[in-house]
Amino acid sequence: MIETRTDKQNSACPFCHETHEITLYTQVNVMSDPDLKEQAITGKLFETECPHCGRVQYMTYDCLYTDPLKKELILLGSTEKSMAEFVSYLRTLMDQQTPEYEFLRAVEAPEQLAEKVLEKEYDADDRIVELAKLAVVRDLKKEEPDRKVLGLIYNLARDDCGREAEGFMVVDGHHIASDFVPLKQNAISLLEDRYRSLLNNPETDPVIDRKWAARFLETHPQAPLPEEPVMDRS
Ligand SMILES: [Zn+2]
Repeated sequence: MIETRTDKQNSACPFCHETHEITLYTQVNVMSDPDLKEQAITGKLFETECPHCGRVQYMTYDCLYTDPLKKELILLGSTEKSMAEFVSYLRTLMDQQTPEYEFLRAVEAPEQLAEKVLEKEYDADDRIVELAKLAVVRDLKKEEPDRKVLGLIYNLARDDCGREAEGFMVVDGHHIASDFVPLKQNAISLLEDRYRSLLNNPETDPVIDRKWAARFLETHPQAPLPEEPVMDRS
């Protein structure tokens, strides 16, 4: 079992150049440390505030995240080398007959870890979510052809009636999510109906991202994205 483990290091603040101690969470077990789940979702796990100047520094480092209750293991590989190692390790776990984990993923950035954890909290299938992103990118292109969209991050927001709506934060600058695009209420279930029988169960690919979704559509030309918009711009 993976236990929570921290690594303390001295680090020079990139802003005021004073040295202070930072804590890296190299292993996170949210069954024994439930507070760390929220910190993974908000990104606080990868932030450190300088005690001298008060400015916040964002860090990216290798992190093993596990939720034994939900049988999740998500590995954050912050370098190309660690990412490759994690992917091949997860593939060996995926080949096992009696898996200890049902959800095995490798990600390369803290915001991707946050997204996976949040998706699991809301029982959203990350493969369906990645396909939904491609549909949203298409819808945005139609609506705002000049807008540069660097990425979409799964999130939830309350609508005017207080209902939680699934959707995406739009990233159009580095680390900046500028606005929230809600999905139509039925968008996810529509995509689930369309793709459920075509998905691998259990999944055999530990990296589920936008490239995975693009490859998936390429290899399933019989099931293109539904033509109707998935964004709710009403
Ligand atoms: Zn500082």
